[in-house]
Amino acid sequence: MKMILSSPDLAEIAHLKDLLESAGMECFINNEVSAGLMGPIPLNESTPELWIQDDSRLDEALQIKRDSQQPLEGKPWTCPKCGEQIEPQFTSCWKCGSAKGQRGI
Ligand SMILES: [Zn+2]
Repeated sequence: MKMILSSPDLAEIAHLKDLLESAGMECFINNEVSAGLMGPIPLNESTPELWIQDDSRLDEALQIKRDSQQPLEGKPWTCPKCGEQIEPQFTSCWKCGSAKGQRGI
């Protein structure tokens, strides 16, 4: 199991959980019950966390997380592999299929 997101904003976590589940990933929220019910408690015990069951899909889950946190409108980006200019709404290159955000290429 891997933690994908830790955020005091339960709505953000629930939103990402929906996205992951619609991608076929099993996931669950930790600390959901205690959040916000008991007043000030140590953050590391109360911050909701989103976890996935299947470690092998971690990269995929993190990609979905990145996509979910990007504003819909943005600047065009340049494919790290072939140099093509890609419109901001696409998360991978239409020409060669490289995912946006890959670094070190
Ligand atoms: Zn490309």
